[in-house]
Amino acid sequence: MLIVQKYGGTSVGTLERLEAVAERVSRTRKEGNDVVVVVSAMSGETNKLVSYAEHFSKAPKQREMDMLLSSGERVTSALLSIALSELGYPAVAMSGRQAGIQTDKSHTKARIEFIDRKCIEKKLKEGNIVVVAGFQGITELGEVSTLGRGGSDLSAVAIAGALEADLCEIYTDVDGVYTTDPRIEPKAKKLEKISYDEMLELASLGAKVLQTRSVEMAKKLNVNLVTRSSFNDNEGTLITKEENIMEQPVVSGVALDRNQARVTLRGVTDKPGIAAEIFRKLSEANVNVDMIIQNVGHDGTTNLGFTVPQNEVEMTKVAMSELNASQSVEYDADIVKVSIVGVGMKSHSGVACTAFDTLAKEGINIEMISTSEIKISMVIASKYGELAVRALHNAYELDK
Ligand code: ADP
Ligand code: ASP
Ligand code: MG
Repeated sequence: MLIVQKYGGTSVGTLERLEAVAERVSRTRKEGNDVVVVVSAMSGETNKLVSYAEHFSKAPKQREMDMLLSSGERVTSALLSIALSELGYPAVAMSGRQAGIQTDKSHTKARIEFIDRKCIEKKLKEGNIVVVAGFQGITELGEVSTLGRGGSDLSAVAIAGALEADLCEIYTDVDGVYTTDPRIEPKAKKLEKISYDEMLELASLGAKVLQTRSVEMAKKLNVNLVTRSSFNDNEGTLITKEENIMEQPVVSGVALDRNQARVTLRGVTDKPGIAAEIFRKLSEANVNVDMIIQNVGHDGTTNLGFTVPQNEVEMTKVAMSELNASQSVEYDADIVKVSIVGVGMKSHSGVACTAFDTLAKEGINIEMISTSEIKISMVIASKYGELAVRALHNAYELDK
């Protein structure tokens, strides 16, 4: 079999951990498999590099950020390769460029355009374990790019897809995907399986156990994806097609996103084209807008609220100042988004009502709501985030 294994920051967080990873990888190789390993930077490393850059500049050039941030993954890939060779297993470390990972030009959140599979295959054929530095690629112009935070998951899935690997294993510090973040609710249960669509929602709504775009890619390329722990041999969670899951619960999980900020535009002129103008400006600035709420207009003006990731607030401020579309703009980062996700919602009523009731009983005010076929999201004050997660987890009996 050809197996792609990705090890996250905590799994490679110390030299001892790297040694344990080398043992696990060599076991997989010894069983007769071809192995491609994708590694993250040591835990905390990427944040440290970000803080270094922020020491000098509030808005460092994105290209330079990619030069900086991509270095963390290169360190671990080289170290793991050295450790494997020492165990008697030929191994070779590759940067994103050497692995043939080509991306578009959007520095710090580049999208993978294609992977030249010959690059890795050549090294595999020579009998190597290939250790790829995750989270990075190269643009058409030969510039180093990175794939957005948590992007090593995407590197692994994309490589698994390109090489048509039999299995892509994401090794992390929890046993798999749980009904909610086990750090918030210790009663959370591990899921044996979850559908691509539910995982996609959970990930994009804050469950960082898998990066959103990696799930998107896994679904698109039909990658056999498993998340499991690098600290034990427990079975993980399989992310698979909906039809492979017999019984669909109404609600599968609860997610908390602490990385959102709310923007409120007051006194927006109430006429056709204004919203288009505002969101075009934001899109040009590469801001990821999420929930959008527009009030009923009054006296020719209206209020417009939306959420953006906290680290895009500065970009949003710049975009809004260039536009002058409203009388005032307010920013509030003291909010969180709590969501429930489940494909079973499609065919059940009363799910939203239970959510609203549950938060009301806890005295939590809901400030924004958005729904889709398989999710309900609510913006609330950040101090209530964890309480809301636990209350919802309990209300839908996810601990049972
Ligand atoms: P890695 O460094 O291995 O990429 P991450 O920190 O990105 O790991 O993701 C793993 C973390 O995701 C866990 O430690 C856990 O706290 C968090 N998490 C959030 N939601 C969930 C969930 N539903 N199931 C499992 N883990 C979750
Ligand atoms: N090191 C990067 C980050 O911390 C990428 C990753 O770990 O997946 O976001
Ligand atoms: Mg991660």
